[in-house]
Amino acid sequence: AKSLGEGRRRRYTRGMDVAAGEQARMGAEMRQALDTGQFRLVYQPIVELPSGRTVAVETLVRWEHPVRGPVSPAEFIPVAEQNGLIVELGAWILKAACAQAAIWRDELGPAAPRRIGVNVSARQLAEPGFPELVANVLAWTGLGADKLTIEVTETAVFGGGQALRAVKALYELGVKIALDDFGTGHSSLTLLQTLPVNILKVDKSFVDNISMAGRHAVIATALIQVSNGLGLDAVAEGVETAEQAAELHRLGYRLAQGYYFGRPAAQPDFAASAELPSAA
Ligand code: C2E
Ligand code: CA
Ligand code: CA
Ligand code: CA
Repeated sequence: AKSLGEGRRRRYTRGMDVAAGEQARMGAEMRQALDTGQFRLVYQPIVELPSGRTVAVETLVRWEHPVRGPVSPAEFIPVAEQNGLIVELGAWILKAACAQAAIWRDELGPAAPRRIGVNVSARQLAEPGFPELVANVLAWTGLGADKLTIEVTETAVFGGGQALRAVKALYELGVKIALDDFGTGHSSLTLLQTLPVNILKVDKSFVDNISMAGRHAVIATALIQVSNGLGLDAVAEGVETAEQAAELHRLGYRLAQGYYFGRPAAQPDFAASAELPSAA
């Protein structure tokens, strides 16, 4: 029994080491990935309802690992947050996204998306000088401040006074502020009382099952009312079916995003539009 206990203890210890080692390895590989250009950006359309016309895009980072293949940002962004690499990676994402938006503006003219969204994590937001970085990138790319949306989560904003000050500075700069995954945090409504914000991104969990009568639809309706009442734009996230899109439109949503309208792509087809099926 004694040796069994010891064996168990050793296995447990080894398990912890592997988890920590895995993190360290991924961190080192991300450093290398940054230096060798393994990260790239994709853009997902945000469309107007019911026309399906693309009015904005959200930037999403992708990592193509030379051996392991694609690694999900849900996996590597938290590691980058932990080891601080998100500051450098995030600055690269911001620059590359704004540069791409300026290219689309110049090449596509009126067909170009009107706004580009960039996700910013807690660590980036709390980094001193983040608003200055954004201002510099805008000056460098020649992109108007109102053409850029910074997507922040409730958790990131609650990270500390510095994060809130950064959001206020960005808002003053004329950059649009979107509150991401809206409704999933602990105090989304409390935050709305103080945070300068332009856009609410209504989380996918409220969009799922929306076409079935019930609580999903009730909450989605309440959220659009809050948004309208405060004079904000609401974007419904994670729309996967025509039925969901039609129901969201019926509830008053004018902006939506999801696989139904377009998957994230390096060069989305802005001319294509997944129009809502006309009401039956
Ligand atoms: P998010 O900001 O909430 O981004 C939306 C996620 O939902 C993306 O996953 C997107 O591909 C996915 N999605 C969009 N439409 C649909 C749909 O119809 N159905 C389903 N099932 N999923 C949909 P992705 O690209 O894997 O990103 C995951 C998360 O990683 C993001 O969530 C964001 O928190 C983070 N992330 C991604 N790119 C960046 C970045 O450049 N910077 C930072 N800081 N975080 C990022
Ligand atoms: Ca987002
Ligand atoms: Ca989201
Ligand atoms: Ca999310």
